[in-house]
Amino acid sequence: MNTHPLKVLKYCPKCGSTAFNKSGDRSLKCAACGFHFFINSAAAVAALVTDESGKLMLVTRGVEPNYGKLDLPGGFIDPLESAEDAVKRELKEELGVEVKSLKYLGSAPNEYVFSAYTVFTLDMAFQVTADSLEHLKPMDDILDYKFYSEEELDYDDIPAPSIKGFVIDYFKKLKA
Ligand SMILES: [Zn+2]
Repeated sequence: MNTHPLKVLKYCPKCGSTAFNKSGDRSLKCAACGFHFFINSAAAVAALVTDESGKLMLVTRGVEPNYGKLDLPGGFIDPLESAEDAVKRELKEELGVEVKSLKYLGSAPNEYVFSAYTVFTLDMAFQVTADSLEHLKPMDDILDYKFYSEEELDYDDIPAPSIKGFVIDYFKKLKA
């Protein structure tokens, strides 16, 4: 099944016309009302939180896609929100963590299928220093959290390639 938006979207979301046609590689245009819909990446953040010994926090996902698999804490950036504010909000929502400081590390693209529809994301990684790592509580869309050394981790348990890349880079730098 082709889940790409160009194949899935059949009607103009503005006027409902069926004359909603591919226009170039990444947009659809309505011949009836002129609405032009672009297929963009959704911006998301991922937080790298570590304990005193350099172990990295990974969380167990409590939502699809990849329910029960490992991930970094984080999520989609809300409309009109900064990436930094999204990191702070997500860590508070998911774990009750207050962010003391954060540093942008880099970004990586990702894609996944949700509701039989391919979603494109750009995941931005941040190194985060928390106010305190006591009294963490998994909430919202995560089931659990744990700090891992590289030896305790099976990279196959991290399905998102962007997230896996951030984790690999983290442990590579730690060893360098
Ligand atoms: Zn239309």
